[in-house]
Amino acid sequence: MAVSGLPPYDEANIFARILRGEIPCKKVHEDAWALAFHDINPQAPVHVLVIPKGKYCSFADFSAAASEAEIAGFVRAVGTVAKQLGLEAPGYRLLANMGPESGQEVPHFHVHLFGGRPLGRMLPKPA
Ligand code: 5GP
Repeated sequence: MAVSGLPPYDEANIFARILRGEIPCKKVHEDAWALAFHDINPQAPVHVLVIPKGKYCSFADFSAAASEAEIAGFVRAVGTVAKQLGLEAPGYRLLANMGPESGQEVPHFHVHLFGGRPLGRMLPKPA
């Protein structure tokens, strides 16, 4: 479901196709609410994407339209994945892009989970 003013969910987006099993992924975790898999173009030694199973385009859509059970299940899955990857002690970063200025490429809500090295500044310095 899309929130008003945002485009409708695109059933052909790459993560929808991964969820349907049409495209393979390197799976890290799956439960009733979420699927986690390695990013195809990793930006850190650990770069995992966690996506909800529901059809939500972005954080705006997910936060407004998902049920409390979906939100709780998804957030718990992110924590489970980070723990499973051994990232709790060294630490990690979560990132979610939303909309054009963020550079969001795939219109299915996802959280990036980065770790495995010191991650430096949150955002690059402006040029
Ligand atoms: P966004 O820019 O939308 O926040 O992030 C999309 C991410 O999806 C990028 O980091 C990109 O490397 C990753 N990605 C795009 N296509 C695929 C794919 O087919 N498989 C996997 N595992 N990751 C993908």
